[in-house]
Order: sequence, then structure tokens, then C-alpha cells
Amino acid sequence: MKVSSKHLYQVAKGQHFAIPHANFIDSDSARAYVTVAQRRGLPLLLAYAQSHSSILSLEEAAAIGNYYADSVEVPVVLHLDHGADFDFIKKAIDLGFTSVMIDASQGSFEDNIAITKKVVAYAHERGIVVEAELGHVGANDTSEADEVTDSVYTEVTDVQAFMKATHVDSLAVSIGTAHGVYKGTPKINFDRLREIASLTDVPLVLHGKNPMMGKYKRGWYRRAYDDNEG
Ligand SMILES: [Zn+2]
Repeated sequence: MKVSSKHLYQVAKGQHFAIPHANFIDSDSARAYVTVAQRRGLPLLLAYAQSHSSILSLEEAAAIGNYYADSVEVPVVLHLDHGADFDFIKKAIDLGFTSVMIDASQGSFEDNIAITKKVVAYAHERGIVVEAELGHVGANDTSEADEVTDSVYTEVTDVQAFMKATHVDSLAVSIGTAHGVYKGTPKINFDRLREIASLTDVPLVLHGKNPMMGKYKRGWYRRAYDDNEG
């Protein structure tokens, strides 16, 4: 059942569990993700990344995502991952996505706030939730990002100002995870995560391969919602 993540995030935060996020690139992958969620009786963020629009158009993704999200009984959030520009995000909302990410994490703090505010204004008017990214989660490959990039840790001192200015519904933070396959052992800064979590009630999002969820050895990346224990 297609849902907003608004309520789901509160439940996850209150009950200390993470919601996995899976990027689909075609109907087979979308079907596989919702089938597993249904089989396990668990919620899912069924996501489509803007960087995949060269292999699957936004219109196709919306048709596939809307269909498969509503094909199961468990809650499924149809989420736009790493939205890069306002027009694309607006179109995703207009096509039925219930959650969108604006990723302006590679721009300046001020530019990040400006574009995020614009997206929040459009989305919130329509009951759609927004995720933004502060600091930058780097990419070791380009499966989801447009280029290989280094991570920039989220500065704790930026968090409250960013939240106050933007009113985003969830915040992707950078604490040492990375997109793609890790080269060597990742160093995850749990102290930074705890510190950030102590400053805001907003659910936190971890992008990249998540070593905390070690049982998932392969496949798409996941995100976890912080439970204040790291
Ligand atoms: Zn990501």
C-alpha cells in the first residue's frame, strides 16, 4: 500500500528500527523488493534515483512504482532518491511519489538551504515529505551518484541552522558510509551520529552501504533511521 513516510518515520523512531531503502531500475527489481517486504511483513522505501533516468524515465518509474507500491498490503513509500533539480522533483511529486530527496549536498551551505526550501514549499503544500542531505556521502562508484566523490562529514554545528531554515522531514547525514563497494574497512563515526541525533528530532538517514546491517552482504544500498543508540 503506497503511503507517506511521515507516520512511518515516527513509528520507526519510536520503536527503534530502521526502514530499508531499495532502488529499482525496472519492473523486475521493483516487484522483487515489494514481494520481499510483503513476505517479511515489513515496510519499505521503494526508491528511484534521478541518476537512473537515462535507463528508466521518471514517467516509467512512476508507473512502475505506483503499481507495485499498491500491489502489496505492507506500507511502501514511493521515494525519489537524490533529486538534483527542482523541475525533476516537482514532476516526481506530480506523478505520485510520496517522498522526495533534494540532494544539494555538493553546493554551498547557503545554496543547499535555498533549493531545499523551494522543494519543501512545493512538497509540503501537497502533503509530500522531503529529505535533504547535509555534509556529503561520497561515492566509490557511480551506480547511484553521477560521479565519484569523497565524503564530507556532516558538521554538527550546521544541523540546527539547516533544520530551522528548511523544515525538512528527514536528514541524510554523512558519518563515514559511502555509496558503492567499500575499499577497505569503512570507519563509521558513531559519536558524530549520536551528537547529531541529540540535536534534532528529525529522523536521520544513512546512505551508502551500511556496515551496521551486515547481514545484507549484497544488493542495493540501505538506509537506517537513527534510534539515538547509533
Ligand atoms: Zn544515496
